[in-house]
Amino acid sequence: MIPPPPGDPLLSDPWQPIGAASIDHPPDPHRLIAYRHAVWHVDQVDHPAPITDTDQAAWVKAGRPDPATPEVWHGWPYIVHATWLAGWRQKMPTGHLFRTRIRIPARSGPYGKKWWIYPATNRWPRCSCCGWPMPCRQDIIDARAAAEMADLNRHLAKLPGCCWGCTEPITSRQNTVTYPGDNLDLPGGPAVQFHTRTHCAGAARDYERRWLAADLARDPVLTGAPAGTLL
Ligand SMILES: [Zn+2]
Ligand SMILES: [Zn+2]
Repeated sequence: MIPPPPGDPLLSDPWQPIGAASIDHPPDPHRLIAYRHAVWHVDQVDHPAPITDTDQAAWVKAGRPDPATPEVWHGWPYIVHATWLAGWRQKMPTGHLFRTRIRIPARSGPYGKKWWIYPATNRWPRCSCCGWPMPCRQDIIDARAAAEMADLNRHLAKLPGCCWGCTEPITSRQNTVTYPGDNLDLPGGPAVQFHTRTHCAGAARDYERRWLAADLARDPVLTGAPAGTLL
C-alpha cells in the first residue's frame, strides 16, 4: 500500500481524473486505472483475497453472504496488482519499474470500493508539460486559483450598504443582521450585513458560522442561537 502523500494537500484531495469512468467492482486485468494521481496497469486481481479477522467481521455485518456466489456481495476483499505507468511517483527510484499491491478489505455496505478506470482502448489524457494524467498537479493549482479569483471578483462587486448575500441595497424598512469587525470574505471590504429574509438567511448563517469561529468571544447574532445560550 502507498501511504497518503506527505505534506501535499493538493494530492490528498479527492481526485477526479479526466477521461476515466467510475466503477465499484474490481477492475479487470490489463485495463488502465487512475489511482492517486498516477496511471496504473492492472496486472492481476486476486478475488477474493484471503480473509482476515476484520474481513470476517465485515462479512458478518453484511449478513453472511454465501461464499459460493461472490458476485452477490460487492464487499468481498480483493487484491489488485498493478504496475505504474505515469504520473505521481512517490518514493520510487527513477528508472525502475514500480509495482504495487493494493489490498481492499471487506466492506459491509452495499457498495464496493470505487475505482477510476480508463476506456478499454487504454488511452488516457496526459499533460503535455509534466506527463501526469489530467488534471495534473498544476491543473489543480490553476483551477483553485481561478475559483479564488472568481470569488474575489464576486465580493469586489458588492457595494457598501448592500446585503452581503443577495447584493441588493438594504432599505430602512428591511430587517437586517450586522457583523462587526473585519470583513471575512474581503479584507478591507465594507461592513457585512444581511437581510434577515429567508432568501438571504442561508448566506447569513454561513457567514455567522465563520464569524463566530474567527473570535470565540463573539455571541450569535441570528435568532435561533444554539440551545444553552438562551438562558
Ligand atoms: Zn502538468
Ligand atoms: Zn439580501
